[in-house]
Amino acid sequence: MIRTVEQYLESLNDGRQIWCLGEKVADVRTHPTLSSIIRTAAMDYVLPNHPDYHDLFVTKNEDGEEVHFLLTAPKTAQDLLRRRECYIIGARTGGGVALHCMGADALAAFTVTANVMDKEIGTHYSERVENYRKLLQRQDLGITGAITDVKGDRSLHPSKQKQHPDYYLRIVDQQKDGIVVRGAKVHISSTPGSNEVLCSPCRTHGEDDKDYALAFALPLNTPGIKLFAVEPVQRIYGEEGKFDYPKTSQTQPTECLIVFDDVFVPYERVFMCGEWQFSRTLAYAFASYHRLYGTCKMIGKLEAMTGAAALAAEYNGIENITHVRKKLAWMAMITQMVAELGKAGCLDPVSEFGMDVVMPNRMTINSAKFTFASNFHQMCQHMQDIAGGLSTTIPTYRDWKNPDIQPYLEKYLGAKDGVPTEERIKVMRLIKDMTGNFWQIDTIHGEGSMAAQEMFLYGSADWDKLKSAAKRSVNIDGWQSHPIYGKLLSKDLVKMPPVDESYRSIPVTAR
Ligand SMILES: Cc1cc2nc3c(=O)[nH]c(=O)nc-3n(C[C@H](O)[C@H](O)[C@H](O)COP(=O)(O)OP(=O)(O)OC[C@H]3O[C@@H](n4cnc5c(N)ncnc54)[C@H](O)[C@@H]3O)c2cc1C
Repeated sequence: MIRTVEQYLESLNDGRQIWCLGEKVADVRTHPTLSSIIRTAAMDYVLPNHPDYHDLFVTKNEDGEEVHFLLTAPKTAQDLLRRRECYIIGARTGGGVALHCMGADALAAFTVTANVMDKEIGTHYSERVENYRKLLQRQDLGITGAITDVKGDRSLHPSKQKQHPDYYLRIVDQQKDGIVVRGAKVHISSTPGSNEVLCSPCRTHGEDDKDYALAFALPLNTPGIKLFAVEPVQRIYGEEGKFDYPKTSQTQPTECLIVFDDVFVPYERVFMCGEWQFSRTLAYAFASYHRLYGTCKMIGKLEAMTGAAALAAEYNGIENITHVRKKLAWMAMITQMVAELGKAGCLDPVSEFGMDVVMPNRMTINSAKFTFASNFHQMCQHMQDIAGGLSTTIPTYRDWKNPDIQPYLEKYLGAKDGVPTEERIKVMRLIKDMTGNFWQIDTIHGEGSMAAQEMFLYGSADWDKLKSAAKRSVNIDGWQSHPIYGKLLSKDLVKMPPVDESYRSIPVTAR
C-alpha cells in the first residue's frame, strides 16, 4: 500500500523513547525543532501520492499490490536509474526521500548478502529478507539504516576493546525465538521520522568477532531502544528559522545516537547472526547502494550552491568578471561530474551474486562520492569568495522584520538595480547557511577578499626574478642584469677537456 501523509504522521505517535536537547520528547510531530524535520520527512509520502510523481515512486510487487518503488530490489540497470531518479527528485524537493534512502539501501544490501550466504553456506536468510520486504511494502513503513557503531578505540577489533565489549552492537543472548542485542549506533540519519531501523555491521570481522556479525530490523518503539537526537545546527524554527537558515532549518536535526539496551529481536527479523565471514559483503553492499544515494543527494545540494553563487554574482554585478566566471564554470563542472558519475555507476552495475540483484558499479560510484566530498570545501570557498563578507554579516529575520531597521537595510544592502534587497538578503542567508559559519567567511573576507590578495600578489610578485630564472635555464638574454640570477656562478668556470666527437653512436640527446 501507499500511505497518506496523515497515516504516516499518525504512525509516529508510537511511544518511542526519544530525547532532544536534554529533554524527553512526548511527540516528535509537535516538538519545536524535531517537527520541522518530520515535515520534511513527510515529503516521502507526498511524492508517491502526487499525480506528477506517482508513476516514478509507485510500482507493483509480485502480488500485484501497489508499493513504494524504493522498497523493491534493484534487478537491472534500469531499476538503478529509476532509484537514482527517485533520490534526485527527493533531494531537489528538499528532503532527499529521507525515509527511503539509508533504510532502502540497507534492505538492498540485506538482499545481496542473504543471497550470497544462502548460496555459500546453505542458510535461509533470503526468505526472511523477502518476508520483511513484504511487511515494509504492505505497511509502507519509513525506514532508516544504522550501520555506524560507536566503535571505541578504532585500532582494536570489536571483541578486543578494552573498556567494555559494547562499542559495537552485538548479540548478548540467543533464545528460542530470537536474540538479545546490546550496543549503540551513532549519527543515524532520519531516525526521529522513521518507523523502523535496519542494523548491520560497519566493518569486517574475524572469527573472534562473530557475536558482532549481526543484521536485523526493528520498530523504533521496541522496548529497550533509546534515541538521543543530535543538537540542531541552528536552534531557530518557524518563519524565522526558514529565513535565517533556509536549508538547515528544514533538515536538522535528523541524526540520533541509538542505544540498544538489551533489546529482543525475533528470529524472523534477524538477517545475519554470527556469520562473520559475510560482514564484509554486507558492509560493501550497503556502501555501494548508499553512495549512489549520496551522489543523488549532492546533486540537489551542488545545484543550489552553484546557483546561489551565480545569483550572488548577478546581484552584486560581478557576473562578467573573469575570475568569477572561472569559479562559476568550475562549480558547474563539479555539479555535472557528480551527476554523470552517479548515472554511469547505474549503467554499468555489478551483478556478481549469481542471482538477479544488481549493485552500482563500485569504482564509478566511489569516484562520484569522492568527487563531491573532496571538492565540497572548494565549492564553499568559491561561494563565500563570490558572495563577499555580507554572506556572514548578513542581518537576520528579526532585523529585517523590524520596521525601524528595515528601511536602512532596504537602502544600504541593495546592490544591482532591479534586484529587491530582500532577495539579495535571502541569497546571502542561504550561502551563510550552506557554507557553514562565521569563521570560514571571516577567514576568506576579513582583511580583504582573495581576489584582492591576488591583485596584490600579481602586482607584487618579482616577475623580473621569476622570468630571469626561466631565461637563465634556457639561455635567453636578459637574466644577466638581474641582481640574483645575473650574479650566479656559471658552469663555464669549470674548464673541461674537449668532448671526444668520435663517439658518433651516442644519440644526440645523450651527448
Ligand atoms: C551527518 C551524518 C549523517 C550520517 N548518517 C548515517 C546513517 O544514517 N547511518 C549510518 O550508519 N551512519 C551514518 N553516518 C556515519 C558515517 O558513515 C560515519 O561518520 C563515517 O563512516 C565515519 O565514521 P566515524 O564518524 O565514526 O569516524 P571515525 O571512524 O572516527 O573516523 C575518523 C578518522 O579516523 C580514521 N579511522 C577510523 N578507524 C580507522 C582504522 N581502523 N584504521 C585507519 N583509519 C581509521 C578514518 O579514516 C577517519 O579519517 C553519518 C555521519 C554524519 C556525519
